[in-house]
Amino acid sequence: MNIYIHTFGCKLNKYESEKISYELTNLGLNITDIKNADAVAINTCTVTKDSDKKLILFLNSIADINSKTIFLIGCYVSKEDAKSNAEIQKENIILINNDEKENATNIIYNKLIKSHDSNLAKTTALFFPQEQSRAFLKIQDGCSVFCSYCIVSRVRGKNKNVPPNEIYQAVQKAKENDYKEIVFTGLNLGSYNYENTNFSYLVESVMELCAKLGVRLRLSSIEPIYFDKHLISLFDEKNKKVLAPHAHIPLQSGSDKILKLMNRRYDRKHFKNIIEELYKQNEYLSITTDVMVGFPDEDENDFNDSYTLCEFSKMLKMHIFRYSKREGTPAFNMENQVAIRQKTKRADILNKLNNRLSEEKYKSFLGRKLDVVIEKELDNSMYEGTAGEYLKVEFQNSVKLHKKMLVSVKIDEYKNKILTGSVI
Ligand code: SF4
Repeated sequence: MNIYIHTFGCKLNKYESEKISYELTNLGLNITDIKNADAVAINTCTVTKDSDKKLILFLNSIADINSKTIFLIGCYVSKEDAKSNAEIQKENIILINNDEKENATNIIYNKLIKSHDSNLAKTTALFFPQEQSRAFLKIQDGCSVFCSYCIVSRVRGKNKNVPPNEIYQAVQKAKENDYKEIVFTGLNLGSYNYENTNFSYLVESVMELCAKLGVRLRLSSIEPIYFDKHLISLFDEKNKKVLAPHAHIPLQSGSDKILKLMNRRYDRKHFKNIIEELYKQNEYLSITTDVMVGFPDEDENDFNDSYTLCEFSKMLKMHIFRYSKREGTPAFNMENQVAIRQKTKRADILNKLNNRLSEEKYKSFLGRKLDVVIEKELDNSMYEGTAGEYLKVEFQNSVKLHKKMLVSVKIDEYKNKILTGSVI
């Protein structure tokens, strides 16, 4: 039985698709291209109206769609209107919503092999993609913050947290598979809470394990509301070998008025305070962020607040988004929508700032030593990797090295957002 797996959307979706693909392969199914597939599994996204359009276009582009079994998985299927959507309500289309996603492998397998022996498809709670140079562990799903522009929290379902013991085992397993860096991911990672273990205590206990195993942990995005004193203290420079000195903290807006309209539950002062305290722990910490421009009612002053806060935070990288209306969210009906022209202008201004800040940050590492996980071998014995500080680094080495290895590189040059140096 051949199946083709297609993924739309975010990193979390990609991770989940790889997990499904790995589990189905273990059950004896072949992952193939679309032409040779008997079935197609599509991990969907509904973050913008465009995402919905892309999915329908993709469905319509499948040549022999009626002769294949199609599995539609995730966010698009979990929307209120999915049940009445004629485009996807067809006999050969099986819908698997977000609440059933953890069990997607079983559902697909049982449908295709026409067996209902549920013992066959035992899914793993944690999984790391085999081809990557880092081990990605999804330890959390769901979000109950409900930002007023976000459809994802409305379709991703309830909070789910992996028990700490399973996480420790997965870290151990990652080490046995030669990984030197483990990345915790989740939809709203900072909200992790399992019985008496909250996020920062989980991180601290995993850091202790990492120290014993000689690996480092990296945290993906953490919302500002989850940065307490304890979490901030873990970023102390002395911990940089076990906790990557990099924090991704979505700002979205630097204006108190807009943050309130967004229902983000923190203000400018709180964000500024996090940044100041983090830099006190480690002045070389890298901070990255997501910023949105053109949210309803954003005027020049509000935009300027975002600009100055990003500048103050000395961001290494800013992901800049233009607000787009999303049906089913409170912001959809808000007054004073911002004109596209205005959004584009503000995004351009922030892009320029992003380039300047990024360059300044990169250059501040000249002459320093960075711990780099190797990701690729380039030509002429050159290697490429990422430092704990989330900086791209290239270096030459006459002795053969391989992906996943951790090496120390002394930096002596900067060019176009890449640092170069030599292994020490
Ligand atoms: S924190 Fe806000 S933007 Fe992020 S998933 Fe939750 S509701 Fe959406």
